[in-house]
Amino acid sequence: MTMTSPSPKQKVVQIALAATKASPGLCDAVYESRFVDELPGDPVTDNVPRQVRNACYTRVDPTPVTKPLLLAWSDDMARVLGVALPKSQKGLEASVLAGNCALPGMKPYAARYGGHQFGHWAGQLGDGRAITLGELVAPGGWRHELQLKGAGKTPYSRTADGRAVLRSSLREFLCSEAMFHLGIPTTRALSLAATGEEVVRDMFYDGNPAPEPGAVVCRVAPSFVRFGNFEILAAHKEHDVLRRLADYVITRHFAELGAPSEAVYGQWFAEICRRTAALMVEWMRVGFVHGVMNTDNMSILGLTIDYGPYGWLEGYDPQWTPNTTDLPGRRYCYGNQPSVAQWNLVQLANALVPLVPDIKVLEEGIRIFGETFEQGSARMLADKLGLQFIGDEGDDELVGGLFEVLGQTETDMTLFYRLLADVPLDGAADTMDDAALVNVLRRSFYSDEAFSAEPRAKLAAWLRRYVTRVRRDGATAEAHRARMNSVNPKYVARNYLAQQAIDALAKGDDSVLARLMVVLRNPYDDQPAHDELAERRPEWARHKAGCSALSCSS
Ligand code: AMP
Ligand code: MG
Repeated sequence: MTMTSPSPKQKVVQIALAATKASPGLCDAVYESRFVDELPGDPVTDNVPRQVRNACYTRVDPTPVTKPLLLAWSDDMARVLGVALPKSQKGLEASVLAGNCALPGMKPYAARYGGHQFGHWAGQLGDGRAITLGELVAPGGWRHELQLKGAGKTPYSRTADGRAVLRSSLREFLCSEAMFHLGIPTTRALSLAATGEEVVRDMFYDGNPAPEPGAVVCRVAPSFVRFGNFEILAAHKEHDVLRRLADYVITRHFAELGAPSEAVYGQWFAEICRRTAALMVEWMRVGFVHGVMNTDNMSILGLTIDYGPYGWLEGYDPQWTPNTTDLPGRRYCYGNQPSVAQWNLVQLANALVPLVPDIKVLEEGIRIFGETFEQGSARMLADKLGLQFIGDEGDDELVGGLFEVLGQTETDMTLFYRLLADVPLDGAADTMDDAALVNVLRRSFYSDEAFSAEPRAKLAAWLRRYVTRVRRDGATAEAHRARMNSVNPKYVARNYLAQQAIDALAKGDDSVLARLMVVLRNPYDDQPAHDELAERRPEWARHKAGCSALSCSS
């Protein structure tokens, strides 16, 4: 598929909120670069692919692009940063956001990291196409790193081009903001800019490379440090730099733990384990599947990071992976995510041994991961079912039965939980026959099989059991429903919706992206005018590229 470049006539997709109107522009903000100022950098400044030693980063400027053009802007993110929507799509802000110039205080760099990819140590990886510009000092003194993804080659680019295509950039822009509005820890995005240049990609890995429009996303996070930043230092026995990076991360991002010491390193690891477990609970809650949980894609702050071939569980299937590259082993499928996170934490623990020689301390962190995940999952499931808690007599059977009925015929997970809140709890439930009861959930079924005798009877029996259990909790019907709807989103950034926004934008139509951004700001609210965005994936999208599964090509 070849896409045309977005038309320069487009307006910037923006969620108009009056609040940013009075803010200064991006170019007037204050910038700092503490990562560069406080940590050892690469003394070599040649921007050629190479192995870097004894450094946390390499100073490198983004490579300018021919025609920077601002395509989309997150006003919610801008409000946090305290900056106003740029007046022009092609002005100085667009130049900064596409990587054509840096502002005073910025010291652009590419981070050095390694990682375990698909279970194997991959050596040096690093920011091969992402360049951090600096930290914007926001109102209240909060600092946010601005990082451009697709900003050109760095010493970590290996044989690749340092660029990103519009389709994957739009997916990251849209989904990271959607995750934020779902209440899930994540890196965020301020803008999406077209470069005016083409990028060649073999989208299906089938030997047919084709040019596509290039783009740059401006990502935002307190820090983009990953597990892999520590792993590469440990792998090369650069223990002094390892300690300095740990001290920096603790001092700047885990200040509540106090001054770094051997004991604090252990507490810090335990906190990373806690946050990672909490993140897994959240991904499982909404059916988010990251798709490439390599250790270089695991945030030290417990954020969702690096949106690539991610997807949302549609038909409930714990074995589902959105990443076609992952298909042989399904290492990164929905159901494996918690155990992979734990495996990744073990790799991080190995890298921290030089700082925490008492292995038991690190083992305790891993135990805390398990405990936090178990407790968090039970809480999350209770919330999703609208129960005060799970642990009553018969609850194990109720939960076991839930996953059985979810998996017995192809059932959309998001819709199932959302519609479950519509099952009547009053006397009506007792007079409804099986077909009527199951019919409440009909919009979640991908086939009529759910209404054939056996699955229908099984689901109806489970629903009756569920109603009895909810009644025992004693909440009013309204409270029960409100509680469920506050944790079971109605709208998620399904791949086929993102693909529709990509296809439209490639033809110069930004309205699809604009609408999605508005709707996904309030994913738990009923927005009747947008009900069609809360339907199950249409059948035409089942096997269409980008609409269900994706390759890593981006
Ligand atoms: P990812 O699979 O996106 O997490 O990337 C894994 C590694 O490949 C990281 O070191 C990336 O910086 C690098 N990488 C991915 N795509 C590109 C690209 N187009 N140019 C340079 N490096 C890339
Ligand atoms: Mg990555």
